[in-house]
Amino acid sequence: MNCDHTVGYMHEFIVLSELSDKIKSEAYGWNKHAKTMAALGSKGYKDDYNPIDFLDGRRGYMTMFKHCPYCGYKINWKEIKKSI
Ligand SMILES: [Zn+2]
Repeated sequence: MNCDHTVGYMHEFIVLSELSDKIKSEAYGWNKHAKTMAALGSKGYKDDYNPIDFLDGRRGYMTMFKHCPYCGYKINWKEIKKSI
């Protein structure tokens, strides 16, 4: 089967080959937002979001699938996190 496994959902479904770019751009967006809010005098925004933060299930940024919904492939998050 030719499947670029769908690994999760964050704004849209995310396939494995796009995951790294997606979380990098997400981290960039949050950092930019935090800087803007801090410049406006808002407190409580940390400004050092790392892409890997978005793969922390406890933080709940992204719905992380255990299996690819299309082919049933077991998604190895441990390996994925090491490769980010
Ligand atoms: Zn798949």
